[in-house]
Amino acid sequence: MSGWRIVNVMVAGTEVASEPSFAERTLLVFPASGEGEALAGAFAALHGDYLLGRLSAFAIEDDKLVATRMAYGGRISLQVRLARGIAVATMREPCAGTETISLGRPSSVPVARSPLAGNRIGLEGAHIVVSGGRGLDETGFALLDRIAAQVDGAVGASLPAIDLGLASVSRQIGQSGKFVTPALYLAVGLSGTPQHLAGIGSATRIVAINADRDAPIFRFAELGVVADARTLLPELTAALGRRVST
Ligand SMILES: Cc1cc2nc3c(=O)[nH]c(=O)nc-3n(C[C@H](O)[C@H](O)[C@H](O)COP(=O)(O)OP(=O)(O)OC[C@H]3O[C@@H](n4cnc5c(N)ncnc54)[C@H](O)[C@@H]3O)c2cc1C
Repeated sequence: MSGWRIVNVMVAGTEVASEPSFAERTLLVFPASGEGEALAGAFAALHGDYLLGRLSAFAIEDDKLVATRMAYGGRISLQVRLARGIAVATMREPCAGTETISLGRPSSVPVARSPLAGNRIGLEGAHIVVSGGRGLDETGFALLDRIAAQVDGAVGASLPAIDLGLASVSRQIGQSGKFVTPALYLAVGLSGTPQHLAGIGSATRIVAINADRDAPIFRFAELGVVADARTLLPELTAALGRRVST
């Protein structure tokens, strides 16, 4: 690994007052756990030049670091080449045969807590996700909440829907939101942009409801319904209600 220093970072349980400094051409590999990723992000913001995300592999070629990571929900593989800098990444397994250091949690990470509104089932590990986009309004999201409760599913949303205040930010799915891998993803009033699809696992089966027959989401959906959600969602929740009561 000529030219580059590769350092495994263990997350220490206690705070570390002073952190070691690193020369150019260093790759710091944190564990791909919730705590490891949080610390990697905080460390990169304070001391790093590049935050590479979760890597599946890396190599040194012609003195350049070549980092490989998956993107768009595992649909494509990206390679990032760096000639120099302090790079921060996470990996599931520590790199064999390299040095290991311990870093503590950042001493002050502001945490804002807010109660979850509406649907209480979390997106993490949900078997069914019922998700809405800009094509819905408040009534539409209230119906999604009801449908999610009827099928024991979790409610998800696109970034614009969250910006409109239709769902809490903890419900955002996509490139800058959560990554979900349910068996079934009901996409309602969502156009199917790459940024949204990046948050859905490639093995998930998508069922889409959209008023526009040319909406890109239909290219990714196993089943598509061209319909106005304002008409279809009340019918869907009524049908599910009849199924539950019989
Ligand atoms: C750096 C970056 C990160 C981003 N991260 C994310 C992310 O994490 N998650 C995310 O979702 N987006 C993200 N975005 C935004 C993304 O580019 C899109 O703007 C967004 O995904 C579109 O959301 P949407 O499908 O809800 O809205 P739109 O694209 O506006 O689609 C709305 C859909 O609703 C349909 N519709 C309208 N009325 C009805 C009706 N009555 N019944 C049925 N269908 C109807 C329309 O036909 C349309 O297809 C990101 C963008 C950037 C630049």
